[in-house]
Amino acid sequence: MTTTVQSELIAAIRNIPDYPKPGVMFRDITTLLGNPRAFRRAIDELVHPYAGTKIDKIAGIEARGFILGGAIAHQLSSGFVPIRKKGKLPHDTVRIAYSLEYGVDEMEMHKDAISPGEKVILVDDLIATGGTAEAAVKLLKQMGADIVAACFVIDLPELGGRKRLEALGVNVRTLIEFE
Ligand code: AMP
Repeated sequence: MTTTVQSELIAAIRNIPDYPKPGVMFRDITTLLGNPRAFRRAIDELVHPYAGTKIDKIAGIEARGFILGGAIAHQLSSGFVPIRKKGKLPHDTVRIAYSLEYGVDEMEMHKDAISPGEKVILVDDLIATGGTAEAAVKLLKQMGADIVAACFVIDLPELGGRKRLEALGVNVRTLIEFE
């Protein structure tokens, strides 16, 4: 069943066919971010299960995870940790390689960004195959993080990302789905 809030979020997202390549339907959240009501709704929906819970850090995946993660961190009075493409962070980092459709990429975070046992929520705009989020989860686990949940506005369930994260024991929260 689609709720009113879900319909509002779906309507706020712009769908761009064949971007960045033929056959891909790009779910563009910039229109949601530019819509004050929809942006607030999305953040409120993502945080409400954790209201009153102590969350030490929000870890956001570059780049759209930074925007959502910053707002979530503010709402939950948590710190924010950026997980970035390699070579962007200035201090000592931990790094992980992960597979893309063609080839591999690497992501990293500062070594001192999270202390063992800290409660962390991972955030990105969308989960598709789950490859990006899985790499981020592995990095966080390597740092000794206690991963409370991984949160996304959009799930593409046919691509299996949610199941992939759940198989790692991660609690996944998403707001809306597209086929
Ligand atoms: P994946 O690793 O396959 O789960 O892909 C997730 C990452 O790629 C996220 O950072 C998304 O922002 C981006 N992404 C993948 N597919 C799409 C799509 N159809 N529309 C917008 N972003 C996407």
